Amino acid sequence: MPKEYADLQISREIYEKIREKLEKSRPRVPISSYVEHILMERLEMDEALQKHGPFLSYSGNNENTIFVNDWKAGRIAAVRVQLDEKGEYHLFCELDQSDKCLHVGFVTALPEFYAVLKERLGPAKFSRK
Ligand SMILES: [Zn+2]
Repeated sequence: MPKEYADLQISREIYEKIREKLEKSRPRVPISSYVEHILMERLEMDEALQKHGPFLSYSGNNENTIFVNDWKAGRIAAVRVQLDEKGEYHLFCELDQSDKCLHVGFVTALPEFYAVLKERLGPAKFSRK
């Protein structure tokens, strides 16, 4: 069965850039094949990223809690930041009812988490750690 095609427009500027690039290629590659190849690669990359890639992102925080978007679970995990008398922090994920889940690990890598700690402990105590 012959391949079917759909028309698509791109700006002259981008077209010229691609044409210039391909002019030097040997063997010669038709522009449409090149663009199709690039788009296909990008689609595959997006699909792979969705399946296996990072699926956690920072969503926001208040003074006690960091919120993490979990795209895989389709939920937001609330990770509580608790401080004991010694000023040491403990993290607890409400979603998993755990202090050892992915969300807790993710939070410890966030600059926003350290901003919350600094806020809660005060700059003097924080810098001692
Ligand atoms: Zn969790």
